[in-house]
Amino acid sequence: MARIDKNVCKLCRREGVKLFLKGQRCFSEKCGVNRRNYPPGQHVRPKKGTDYGTQLREKQKCKRVYGVMERQFQHYFTIAQRQKGNTGENLLVLMERRLDNVVLSLGLAFSRFDARQMVAHGHVYVNKKRVDIAGYLVRPGDEIEVRGTDKIKKKAGDAVEMNKGRSLPGWLEAMPTELKGRVIQLPKREDVSVEINEQLIIELCSK
Ligand code: SF4
Repeated sequence: MARIDKNVCKLCRREGVKLFLKGQRCFSEKCGVNRRNYPPGQHVRPKKGTDYGTQLREKQKCKRVYGVMERQFQHYFTIAQRQKGNTGENLLVLMERRLDNVVLSLGLAFSRFDARQMVAHGHVYVNKKRVDIAGYLVRPGDEIEVRGTDKIKKKAGDAVEMNKGRSLPGWLEAMPTELKGRVIQLPKREDVSVEINEQLIIELCSK
C-alpha cells in the first residue's frame, strides 16, 4: 500500500495547488496553501522551468492527488495505453475508479488517507463482499457500502455530515443515510475535479 505522509500539506505547497488531502482543513483558512503559498523547505529559490520539469511536476501532482506510488502509476499507464481512446483520459478514469477514491467521493471518509485506511481495515464492501484493496477498480453497477462496528459507522456518518453540501460526481449515486453508494457509469474526463494536464504526463511517460 502506498504510504501517505502525515505532513501532506507540503505536497500541495510543492505543487502550488490544493490537492485536497486533509479533509475539512482543505476548505478552511488553515489550509497550508492559503497560509504559506510557497514551496516547502529552507532557502527555496524559484527555478527556471524546463519542459521536462513541467511534465514531471504534473505527473507528481497526479500521483499525489490519488496517493499512488511510481510502480502503480506505471501500471495504470500501461493499461491506459492498451485501452481504446485518449491515453491521458483513460489514465485519469482509471485513477478515479480506485475504491479509495470512490469512498472519498461518496463522502464516506474525511480524507483520502482515511478512505484508504477504511478499505485496508476491511470496512468497505463492494456488492456485499469485503474488499480490502484500495486500488480495486469499481465497475458500473457496483454497490459500495461501509460496514462494521457502531464506532466505524459513526465515523462514516460524521464524514457524511461533514461532506454535506459538496457536489457528487455524476457517475456516482450516494445513499448517505445507509452509508452506501452506487456506480452508475464509468467516470468521464469532466468528472475529474482536480486540475491535471494529462497531456503533459503522456508526453513524459511516452519518452
Ligand atoms: Fe493541501 Fe488540504 Fe493541506 Fe490545503 S489543507 S495544503 S489542500 S492537504
